[in-house]
Amino acid sequence: MNIGIIGTGYVGLVTGACFAEFGVQVTCMDSNAQKIEGLKKGIVPIYEPGLEELVRKNIRNHRLMFTTDIRQAVEAALVIFIAVGTPPRGDGLADLSSVEAVAQAIAERLDGYKVIALKSTVPVGTGDRLRAIISQRLKEQIDFDIVSNPEFLREGSAIEDFMRPNRVVIGATSPQAIAILRDLYRPLYLIDTPFVITDNRTAEMIKYASNAFLATKISFINEVANLCEKVGGDIHMIAKAMGLDGRIGPKFLHPGPGFGGSCFPKDIKALNQLASEKQYDFKLLRAVIEVNDNQRVLMLDKIKKVLGPLKNQTVGVLGLSYKPNTDDIRESPAIDLIRLLQEERARLKVYDPAAMEAAKPILKQVVFCSGPYEVAKGADAIVLATEWNEFRNLDLELLKQSLKQPIFVDLRNVYDPAKMISLGFHYVGVGRAAIPSA
Ligand code: NAD
Repeated sequence: MNIGIIGTGYVGLVTGACFAEFGVQVTCMDSNAQKIEGLKKGIVPIYEPGLEELVRKNIRNHRLMFTTDIRQAVEAALVIFIAVGTPPRGDGLADLSSVEAVAQAIAERLDGYKVIALKSTVPVGTGDRLRAIISQRLKEQIDFDIVSNPEFLREGSAIEDFMRPNRVVIGATSPQAIAILRDLYRPLYLIDTPFVITDNRTAEMIKYASNAFLATKISFINEVANLCEKVGGDIHMIAKAMGLDGRIGPKFLHPGPGFGGSCFPKDIKALNQLASEKQYDFKLLRAVIEVNDNQRVLMLDKIKKVLGPLKNQTVGVLGLSYKPNTDDIRESPAIDLIRLLQEERARLKVYDPAAMEAAKPILKQVVFCSGPYEVAKGADAIVLATEWNEFRNLDLELLKQSLKQPIFVDLRNVYDPAKMISLGFHYVGVGRAAIPSA
């Protein structure tokens, strides 16, 4: 089968490379010519473990092609995936301008029956809207179907998530389109991946509801952690014990500076905005957003509490990406915290294993260092903001010697408080080792 993928970012490129690996003939299109030129040479512009190898292998096998010409991605394809970005607009709703522009461009080049599959995360009703846009633009009567096929991959483990997903959601009304998508995903069917076949609107809502629920878990555990700091109790043990309850599950119960990334913040805001446009007050979602925004400020307060006024004090920050194993800094808590620290006139030294290049254009007056010990050198405190593996096994003696004063603010609860204290650190975690106030 031939497929086309429009939008060759995290989702589009992973989707393209993985389908090529399944033996499908894939043409990936993107409007960013520089990106496409690099990809043609096997240069992957994002940090995603295993992706470059997969892309290069499938270029060599002539199953993966790259182009800036949408015609090439549409003409030979039976299925065209739309995987362009849907960033937040000023009002919080998803900006669908790229999705709609792509739909129009596809309509102008449609030369026979094709399935147009929406992988971008889009508000409920977008599939219906695209159907109308494409129908209006068609020069002649041509049959086509719109499938809503939301993506659930996580950056940092995107290939594994695509190859072994928890489920594949196919939202469509046409049996023909469903059969084609099932055929495309056959390798996953063979490993017993559950398939959820439903209508377009339900599929669209599944994606938003899933992200909103996971974000709710994070804000919930952060609230419990904040309370633990006032009343005592170790959030680490609390989350572990909660997670052992099969009804709750252990994932997304890690307290910290709040969620970030390219998906959760924008998707939660978009769902909230969608609700309010329909005069529905999604109270829980509003609280999730508020708690998350405030969590950044509480992390700043922790640092201020140990360092006092931050003006002219040097804070070393380990980690810039919004989570480990990615160079994605979109809505990263680490970046938000750095900005808050700068507002307090602190001096900043930073290091990240993969996100330095992405951060350089947006972080001004920050010293970019070559590793964690250089960050620590002469700093008044070190803040672990993103739990990269590289930061899990630091030489704590060397770190302590490098710091001006041994203050370690662990926003990801990577280290054991008792051990850190025994090593002579003033250790601050999240929701742990609190002395209950009277
Ligand atoms: P991205 O920004 O990494 O990639 C989008 C790509 O689309 C870019 O390369 C851009 O140049 C290209 N593009 C934009 N307009 C175009 C146009 N008119 N024609 C051709 N190409 C165009 O975005 P992403 O992270 O891959 O996300 C894409 C969609 O998938 C979003 O809706 C996102 O919410 C959703 N999603 C993302 C993830 C994730 O982890 N990143 C996971 C699930 C779903």
